[in-house]
Amino acid sequence: MNALPDFRLHRPATLDEAVRLKAQIEHPACVAGGSDILVNLRRGLAKPGDLIDLSGLRDLDAIERIGDELWIGALTTLARLTRDGAVAAAYPALAEAAATVAGPTHRAAATLGGNLCQDTRCVYYNQSEWWRDGNAYCLKHCGEKCHVVAKSDRCYATYHGDLAPVLMALGASAIVARAGGLRRLPVENLFREDGAHYLTLAPDEILAAIALPPLNGRAAYVKGRVRESVDFPLTGIAAALKREGDVIAALRVAITGMNSAPLMVDVSKLIGKPWNDETATLLSNALRSRATALATTLAEGLDDAFADDPRVAVIDKAKDDSGLVRNDFYDWRKEVAALLDGPDHFDLVVIQIGVNDNQKLRLDPDHQLEPLSKAFNEVYAQRVDEIAAAFRDKNIPLVWVGLPIMSSPGLSNAALVFNEIAKQHATAAGARYVDLWDAFSDVNSAYKASGPDINGAIVRLRGPDGVHFTLAGARKAAHFIEPEVKRVLEAKLQPPPDAVPPDQSAPPEAVAPAPEKPAPEKPLAGKITPLNEPILSPGGALAEAPKASASVADKPAAAAPGRSDDFSLPRAPAPQPSP
Ligand SMILES: Cc1cc2nc3c(=O)[nH]c(=O)nc-3n(C[C@H](O)[C@H](O)[C@H](O)COP(=O)(O)OP(=O)(O)OC[C@H]3O[C@@H](n4cnc5c(N)ncnc54)[C@H](O)[C@@H]3O)c2cc1C
Ligand code: SF4
Repeated sequence: MNALPDFRLHRPATLDEAVRLKAQIEHPACVAGGSDILVNLRRGLAKPGDLIDLSGLRDLDAIERIGDELWIGALTTLARLTRDGAVAAAYPALAEAAATVAGPTHRAAATLGGNLCQDTRCVYYNQSEWWRDGNAYCLKHCGEKCHVVAKSDRCYATYHGDLAPVLMALGASAIVARAGGLRRLPVENLFREDGAHYLTLAPDEILAAIALPPLNGRAAYVKGRVRESVDFPLTGIAAALKREGDVIAALRVAITGMNSAPLMVDVSKLIGKPWNDETATLLSNALRSRATALATTLAEGLDDAFADDPRVAVIDKAKDDSGLVRNDFYDWRKEVAALLDGPDHFDLVVIQIGVNDNQKLRLDPDHQLEPLSKAFNEVYAQRVDEIAAAFRDKNIPLVWVGLPIMSSPGLSNAALVFNEIAKQHATAAGARYVDLWDAFSDVNSAYKASGPDINGAIVRLRGPDGVHFTLAGARKAAHFIEPEVKRVLEAKLQPPPDAVPPDQSAPPEAVAPAPEKPAPEKPLAGKITPLNEPILSPGGALAEAPKASASVADKPAAAAPGRSDDFSLPRAPAPQPSP
């Protein structure tokens, strides 16, 4: 952590004064509880010349009923939200969500307004100044490149506030103060999906309060995180539901943690239907289509690897969250058939299927196979067979890329099973298999998020979920596929064999003696092979890595009796020179 930068601190006593100050000063920042902004300032993520301390605006920490709405001031602390009687009675999901934010000491200082307006997060941004400087900064702050999404048009840093999705599901409004008075907007309209400019508040505006309409039904919030306390949500889902008998009469669903803004999910297809497997699938598909897994795909790594080779164009056909298990969501076997019959021409196809396949495989509504069970693995293998055969039948070389180790041991075990199936079945249909496991494990064969990139620098290779690649990770994975692409390319570019065969009918003596060949020029040096290049067999195919363990034949020869390296006991007499 760096020392805080120099700034002027303003302590307005009223909301009017605060709004006027905000309108007058160029690029000021507000501080409420300070649990988000002070950390960022100490990391050099902003250097506002002026800080406006909102803690003196005592009228903003009230909780009041106005008409049939409950108004909660922006300065209300999260600790108070967790124990306030009116909140707990009318909106228990909000109190429960507040109780999951950070730890008790944070919640004592952290405010509702600060929670909603907190900065977006990214592994390349929430770092010290010197770390970011060493990585040439990034689009969100001071730099020109995004390290997460290649060729990105915007910053993809993700929003991880817990309270926004709950308020959105509850249909709450934001009350915003500005020089001309107050304006009111749905909470979801406070945000835009751009990691660097995630709030729609104008420079002179301050969030004053949240107004909650009466809850007609029930609401809940579920937060997924690594540890059960202090951690931000990796993902959070809030839902408010009204049922009439068995039918879903009203439903609002919002998500956090996966996109640059908390987002409403379109669940209109569920309205008027009962809750059953069909509606569960509709809901799951609606959630998937809204959430960005922020995966950097192998295709992006390959694109980067061949950026300077005009002969190679990488066509990215990756689809978030797809796999071989769920064909209701995205059916890869059908998609492959459509691709092969479509207008694109492929010289080589690279496939990597994600660990998202570690879920039940539904053959029909009444028949589901448990993930990794014997029956599941058999069906899964058939699907690999079908896809690999489709490319073989069209004479298109296929490279099947295995999954790397995952941070979760359970997912790693699943990845090993999927890798084994792919290795056996795709290669049986003529595909080449590329193993990434060791390249993404540490010396103890354990998961490590960081490791050497293709230049040997230690960088972050895996995303925050411990599953996906960062751009550097995808580029490293692509490095293992490059030899295959080059081999296929070189085979295509070979000149065609001479069309006119040599005349065999002429008598041997009629053939002019071949001129004496000049001795081949001696090269100055042999082939230069980078130390980190994958080992290739003579045909250019990926060869097996050398075995780590020495075989019996590799043991050193026994020392001659009596020689200085003969350590046997009792010591044998040294042979005497003959007289
Ligand atoms: C270890 C740790 C764990 C955390 N875990 C979580 C978590 O699990 N879930 C979660 O949601 N958050 C988490 N946070 C983030 C943060 O602490 C909370 O979101 C907190 O609620 C922020 O409130 P604050 O009042 O401290 O905000 P501040 O830091 O004071 O402000 C945050 C931002 O909001 C702006 N702001 C504040 N009030 C207003 C206003 N009224 N109008 C306009 N802009 C305003 C500030 O200018 C600043 O940009 C965590 C933080 C830490 C350090
Ligand atoms: S998503 Fe890209 S631009 Fe945004 S913070 Fe991360 S690295 Fe920077």
